Amino acid sequence: MNVESELEKGNFVVGECLKCKKIVWPPSEYCNRCFGNVSIKEGPLQGKIIEFSKQGNDYFCLVEFNENVKIIGKIADDIPQINQSVMVKKCGIQNGDYFFEFTSN
Ligand SMILES: [Zn+2]
Repeated sequence: MNVESELEKGNFVVGECLKCKKIVWPPSEYCNRCFGNVSIKEGPLQGKIIEFSKQGNDYFCLVEFNENVKIIGKIADDIPQINQSVMVKKCGIQNGDYFFEFTSN
């Protein structure tokens, strides 16, 4: 069981270093600060939009969940605004890449 296989199942999780407690993102087997082993932790619930752009009919946002976790994904139900609070609605792995969809409620 690892972070990637949980994401693949649609569960938003992040890694947490067992030694220094740093949140490890993007997913990795070892902590990028102290090389400690990483355990799975439920992903943070609320993030905020720090950037967005429109591609075709879709809006893509860069969402910051905390200082280490920044994720790009699609927002489906709303026109995004900077600093807007969002949650992860869906996540997964598609063609070898992570994909995320956010919702504002
Ligand atoms: Zn560490």
